[in-house]
This record gives sequence, C-alpha cells and structure tokens, in this order.
Amino acid sequence: MILKDFHTHTTYCDGNHSPEEMLLSAIEKGLTTYGFSGHGYTDFDLRYCMNLEETVQYKRDILALKEKYKDKIEVKLGIEQDVFSNHPTDDYDYVIGSVHYIRKDGVYRSIDEDPQDFENICNEWFDGDYYSFAEDYYRNVVKLAEKKIDIIGHIDLITKFNEGNRLFDMAHPRYLAAAKKAIDALLPLGVPFEINTGAISRGYRSAPYPAPELLEYIKSKGGMLILSSDTHARENICFQFDKWEKLL
Ligand SMILES: [Zn+2]
Ligand SMILES: [Zn+2]
Repeated sequence: MILKDFHTHTTYCDGNHSPEEMLLSAIEKGLTTYGFSGHGYTDFDLRYCMNLEETVQYKRDILALKEKYKDKIEVKLGIEQDVFSNHPTDDYDYVIGSVHYIRKDGVYRSIDEDPQDFENICNEWFDGDYYSFAEDYYRNVVKLAEKKIDIIGHIDLITKFNEGNRLFDMAHPRYLAAAKKAIDALLPLGVPFEINTGAISRGYRSAPYPAPELLEYIKSKGGMLILSSDTHARENICFQFDKWEKLL
C-alpha cells in the first residue's frame, strides 16, 4: 500500500487532531512521508481556514515536528490554497490548489459544507440549473492554471453531494464539457490530479474524486495522479488507499 499522504488537516484549520497527534498516527501506520496541508488564509471566510496568526504558528509547529521526528518520517510543510486566496505560498514545500467556493457580486459561498446549502446556492444563484452551477464552478477550476500549484485538489468537488446522480447527471454533455475543459486547462501544468478519498471517509460518497469518466479522461490525456485522503482525523490517514490504489 502507498504509505504517503499529502492532503491532511489538523486543528489549525477544520481538523479534529493536532499536528503531533496526526503525525504520531502516521508513524504508527508506517508512513514514510507525511504532508500537512492546512487550509490557506482567505480574507472572506475565516470559519475553516487558518487566520494570519495561526498561519505563522502552523509553519513554526510543522517545521518543529519535521525536526523532532526526522529519524522516523519525512515531513512536508504544505498548504491547501483556494483559488480565491492570494496569500503568498512561497514558504511551503508544496501547494494543493483547490476550489471550494462559488462567487457572485463579491459574495462567496462554500459548495462543500452542507448539502442543503449546496441546493440553496443552485436554486438562488442558478435558477435550479445544476449545469450552469457546474459550468461556473469549472470556470473557477480553470483559474487554478494561473496559480503556482503542485497538486490539483479534488477537481470535481461539486459532485460531493451528488452520490447516485441525486441532483444532476454526471454524464450530461454540458457537465462533461465543462469538466473536461478544466482538465484540459490544467494538464499543461504537469502536476498530478488527486484521487481523493475524503468524501468517502466523511460518508458522502462511495468512491473517490474524480468520478470515473473524468479519471479516464485524465488518464487518456497522460495526466498524472496522486492518492490523497484529505483527512480531518487521525484514523483516516491513507483512508482506503489499499482499496483504491489500483486506480493509479
Ligand atoms: Zn479541499
Ligand atoms: Zn482538504
């Protein structure tokens, strides 16, 4: 099994366990490399990301752990940066670029927090048309191509609450066209797309991001892939990697 995990959260953002608790679990599980990727600062939504002061402490804390456990595990200091954040990321070993919001008239709404909120956004901002919603989402994903990123995070996060095509058809031509356009825009970056098991461990999905059609498309275009747990709790480090690593 792959014993590396680069997409992980802690109490510095919206995770359940401290960095040291997470790292001790990673060591116990036999990981060779562990990457921390706290949610990077955004000035429009401080509920789940690190504020400026916490960002400074986060870096200091992770670097101290890197030193403390250097004989046991390789530690990487990363960040999960939203496309709408312009906070500098030069200090990090790597950056995961993700899209978590829809923006309209200067208002940002999170698309991955709550299923009812998700439906409300579609009804209030897109007249209930999930394909317009998805097209807007993927236009934001395209903007990741302008960022300095090392990993593309959960490219089809917009499907989080759509298990079994509950709200829209993930094989609909408009949906697939928008998603593939985003993949095409990101392929030239030459960085891996995540296979992300985070929504499985949180009970929203039965399979990882991206959906099979998109995963096959990425593969057909020669895109690189990386397995990530996007874990918010120590018990979910490398969540179901044994089951899904065949997708690589
Ligand atoms: Zn994310
Ligand atoms: Zn994450």
